[in-house]
Amino acid sequence: AQHFLARIKTHQNLAAFLAVDEEATLTQARAADARLAAGDSAPLLGVPIAHKDIFVTRDFPSTAGSKMLTGYRSPFDATVVARLGQGAPDQGPGAGAVTLGKLSCDEFAMGSSNEAVAVPAVGFSSATPVKNPWDPARVPGGSSGGSAAAVAARLAPAATGTDTGGSIRQPASFCGITGIKPTYGRASRYGMIAYASSLDQAGPMARSAEDCALLLSALCGPDLDRDSTSLDLPAEDFSRGLNDKVDGLRIGIPKEFFGAGLAADVRAAIDAALKEYEKLGAKLVEISLPRTELAIPVYYIIAPAEASSNLSRFDGVKFGHRAKDYTDLLDMYKKSRSEGFGEEVQRRIMIGAYVLSHGYYDAYYLQAQKIRRMLADDFQNAFQHCDVIAGPAAPSVAWQIGGHGDDPVADYLADIYTLPASLAGLPGLSLPVGFGDGGLPVGLQLIGNYLQEAKLLNAAHRYQ
Ligand code: GLN
Repeated sequence: AQHFLARIKTHQNLAAFLAVDEEATLTQARAADARLAAGDSAPLLGVPIAHKDIFVTRDFPSTAGSKMLTGYRSPFDATVVARLGQGAPDQGPGAGAVTLGKLSCDEFAMGSSNEAVAVPAVGFSSATPVKNPWDPARVPGGSSGGSAAAVAARLAPAATGTDTGGSIRQPASFCGITGIKPTYGRASRYGMIAYASSLDQAGPMARSAEDCALLLSALCGPDLDRDSTSLDLPAEDFSRGLNDKVDGLRIGIPKEFFGAGLAADVRAAIDAALKEYEKLGAKLVEISLPRTELAIPVYYIIAPAEASSNLSRFDGVKFGHRAKDYTDLLDMYKKSRSEGFGEEVQRRIMIGAYVLSHGYYDAYYLQAQKIRRMLADDFQNAFQHCDVIAGPAAPSVAWQIGGHGDDPVADYLADIYTLPASLAGLPGLSLPVGFGDGGLPVGLQLIGNYLQEAKLLNAAHRYQ
C-alpha cells in the first residue's frame, strides 16, 4: 500500500484519483496485516486496490464526479466494496483488499472520455481531466477513465469500474488493460450510485484476465435484500478454467462491427488478434447482429429515461448540494439542481423527462424497449453459431482531450460496439491486443452468452 500511495503522489499529473487519504488506507492495511497474522487466508488479503468514485465508501468521500455530492460521506460501503475489502456485518469478512482511494469518472458515469468530471480532488491537488498514461494529451476513455489510467500507470494493481454502456470495456481498450463487465445481475448494485438501473453493472479492471478473474470471484454474489435484480446464484470461481484450451472455440465475428466507421489502425490490430486466435485453434465464424446501429438511439433513450428518474433524489434536501439563496421550496430545488449538476447530466435529465412524458412515451421509450428486446434476440440467434463473439471495443484509439469539442453526439456514436451487449445484459470483456496510430493501445472485445464470464476470461487468458 505504501508503494502505491507513493506512486499515486508522484503521478498526480494524471488526475486519476479524486480522493486519497493515507491514514485511512494504512489503517485498512494494518487490519489486513492483523488478519494475516491470525492465519486468515482471504483471497485478496492486503492487496491494494482502488474504487471508481461511483461506489460509496465509509472511509473515503464519494462524489460520483459531481459537484452535487462534494464532501459527501456515506455511512456504509457498497456491497462490491465490502465484498472485495473489509466485509460488512451481514456480508461476512470480505476478501481483504485494501482501498488506495477513489478514482475519477465522468459525472454520474455519463460520458466516454472522463472529461465531464466536475469535482476537485481531495487529499492532493490535481488538474482535471484525467490523462491517458500512454499520451497525456489523450483521454483515458470513460466513464471509468480514472480506473483505467490508474491501472495502466501502475498506481494500483487493480481497480473497480462500472459499465452501463461500455464504461469498463472502452477505457480498458484506450489504456491497454483488461476489464470485464459481468452478466447483468452478477454484481450487486447496492451502494453503486445509480445511473441507469437496468444497465448498470460493476466489474474489475486489471492488468490481466487472470487478475480480473480473482477480483470478479470476490465481488459477485447474491444480495437480494438490497438489490432485487441481483442474481440468486452461488459464488463462482472464475479462475477455474483460465488455462483450458481454446481449441475448437467458435468465435463469432459480427460483420456489423467491421463497417465503414471502424478506423483502419484499429481494424488491423483486431485482425491480427483474430489470426492469433486461429493459431490457438479457434474457428472464426461470420455472424450478423443486424440491429447494431439501433443500439445507439435505443440506449440514448433508455439510459437518460432511467437517469432522469434516478437523479430525482438529488433535490438538496436529504443530501447533496443545496443552493444558498432561494425564495421557496421549488426555487430551492431548481437552484440546487442547476448549480449541482453539470451540463451533460442536465442534458440527459431533460432527454429522459422528455421521452417519458405523456404523448412521447409510446413514440420513444416504449419503442426503444421493443427494439432492446430484439437486440437481445439477435444475440441469441448469433450464439446458435458461436461460443463467443469478438470485435473491437471502440471504433478508434483514444482521442485528443477536447477532440470531440462540444459535440456530445460524437461521444455517443463512439459507443456503438459496447452498447449492444449492455442492452442485452450480456457479459463483455476488453483485452489489449496491440497498438494503433501513435502507439496507442487497441482492445479486443469478447462478448459471451449469459453467465459465460469464465469462458471470456479463459479466451482472454489464453491470448495473454
Ligand atoms: N458512454 C456511455 C454513456 O455516456 C456509457 C457510460 C457508462 O457505461 N457508464 O452513457
